[in-house]
Amino acid sequence: MPRFSCPTCGRGLINILQDTLIKKHPAWIANLPELGDEFSDASKNDVRNCGKEEFITSLFLKCDNKGCGEIIASIGLLKDEMIVGYDKYGGWCSYEERFYPASFYPAIHLLEIPLKTPESIKSKIVKSFPLFWLSPSACGNAIRISVERLLDECGVLSKKLNSKGNEIELPLHARIEEFGKKFEYLSNLLFAIKWIGNDGSHASDLKVEDVIIA
Ligand SMILES: [Zn+2]
Repeated sequence: MPRFSCPTCGRGLINILQDTLIKKHPAWIANLPELGDEFSDASKNDVRNCGKEEFITSLFLKCDNKGCGEIIASIGLLKDEMIVGYDKYGGWCSYEERFYPASFYPAIHLLEIPLKTPESIKSKIVKSFPLFWLSPSACGNAIRISVERLLDECGVLSKKLNSKGNEIELPLHARIEEFGKKFEYLSNLLFAIKWIGNDGSHASDLKVEDVIIA
């Protein structure tokens, strides 16, 4: 698991407290016999041998900053995964335990928010963090809203008058284009985030990797 900084002090790094890790087989494995028998095609042993073993897991983490020591709880799925590689002797494979977190409490910060960030933007970014693990799509959408607030702070208008003189909401795309007249490089980054937000709203298959890239 990558190292994350502490959500409370922002200075320390959080480490897993190994003795707090509790793992149990999900029902689909727990209900299998230990070894294959005449009534069952599969067994716990088969699951192990195929590298498909997984555990529903809970654990605690602790901030390593002595003056803080914040405790963070996490739940998720621990999976045995097959790692395949090649070297001068040919192909090899081994198994590695990987943790797929579904939640952290308090929510860990996925990026460092600069100190001078206005509160309206900061609060939207912080709200996106807990969503990241459970629903990358919802997280992408929350980040998109933070872009709207960023444009507010930069004085980019959110409404304009149409040809009939009625006030209409400007779509995010048009607002970023307006922003790009002054800050072209930054506007390209915002378009990338908007794309993530669009997918967050309209599709359910947004991946954790896509949100990280944005
Ligand atoms: Zn801390």
